[in-house]
Amino acid sequence: MGTRDEILTLDRRHVWRPYTSSDDHQGRDPIVVARAEGARLFDHDGRSYLDANGSWWVNNLGHGHPRLRAALVKQLETLAHCSMAGMTHEPAARLAAELVAVAPAGLTRVFFSDDGSTAVEVALKIAFQHALQTGRRAQRFLALGAAYHGDTTGAMSVGRIPEFHATFGPMLFDVVHASVERGFDAAFAEIEARLVSEGSSIAAVVVEPLVQGAAGMRMYPPALLARLREATQRAGVLLIVDEVFTGYGRTGAMWACELAGISPDLMCTAKGFSGGILPFAATLATDAVFDAFSGDGTRALMHGHSFCGNPLGAAIAREVLAVYRDEGVLGEVAAKAPRIAEAFERMGRIAGTARPRALGMIGAIDLGGAGYHARLGRRAQDAARERGVSLRPLGDTVYVAPPLTITGDELDELLRVVSESVRIALER
Ligand SMILES: *Cc1c(COP(=O)(O)O)cnc(C)c1O
Repeated sequence: MGTRDEILTLDRRHVWRPYTSSDDHQGRDPIVVARAEGARLFDHDGRSYLDANGSWWVNNLGHGHPRLRAALVKQLETLAHCSMAGMTHEPAARLAAELVAVAPAGLTRVFFSDDGSTAVEVALKIAFQHALQTGRRAQRFLALGAAYHGDTTGAMSVGRIPEFHATFGPMLFDVVHASVERGFDAAFAEIEARLVSEGSSIAAVVVEPLVQGAAGMRMYPPALLARLREATQRAGVLLIVDEVFTGYGRTGAMWACELAGISPDLMCTAKGFSGGILPFAATLATDAVFDAFSGDGTRALMHGHSFCGNPLGAAIAREVLAVYRDEGVLGEVAAKAPRIAEAFERMGRIAGTARPRALGMIGAIDLGGAGYHARLGRRAQDAARERGVSLRPLGDTVYVAPPLTITGDELDELLRVVSESVRIALER
């Protein structure tokens, strides 16, 4: 038995893969990845695949960045783990300061956790307790329809994608979701109206800034986010911005918030935060939010994960920030983004496509538009795979969100293959 077959057999017998039905698990061969370098994944037979979605939106700096590898090894030599209870350490303390220095103005406190979902859970719990400790009886959250904030229970509660969340409805807490069916203008207007009429019962508004990623790369203009910021301030309600996907240059700026010229009260970061080396996340807060927790033990935020502030993760996250500084990563995005926008605009001329759109290092287009379980996206995925591109459409939304460091030639190849694959998927 070859190595690849052996791995597949073990996987089929024992692994429970995410978002995968048993039909798919047994019937469709996954790419068995042996190694990765830059923007490419390599399988066991040595075939390479361009990583069109940066391995689930994580590898913004590509795979195997030499500086990130070195930072991991170096940290491993002195301290791999200790708790953050009654202790602290240099990597976490320095990272907090360095993160605050590049974060939107006013975010000065950093709570560490493990992944995007936990970063959101932390923000929700902070907002909830903040309301209690500032004398507000505000226990509900306001969010956008079609939102995605992660797969843990609190994060699912503020999310609203039927294919992901409907099954779990009965175990989720009650959240007011503004419908996006009639477009984002109407949805934001609904949130603003609710802030006026029922703001005193709302602990926080939570949004993905400018792009609803998992919903199918749905984009809205920065002005709506800027207006929401003003509305939350008028109502005295906290604004949580979930930058888990959009942060670290994905939309062209370090944070999507910057494109709207706003600073939230709480901000979540993960994914690109630790450059695809280790799971790691942070929730940032303002002094004003942090100060509501001052006092004795009864006022402390009773939350913490075993790996909170893990030194390896912190060391990597520091090096990620250093790479952004030293290697002009955001400048590269500015040069590449127009090529993505152009390519998707051109794809929009293929009959059967709809709503080509792009922002920063994201390009997306809809095929047919029959929802998450539709099949045209699958056909594009299969065609791309045959052509050396690992694509994972969100239903019938085909998109790219490659490493920001993808080379110009690789980007051209990626965009050419995606366009060809879209064409093939739509052929009768
Ligand atoms: C992916 C994502 C999350 C969840 O992050 P995990 O690391 O998968 O838990 C939360 N919010 C947004 C906007 C995301 O894209």
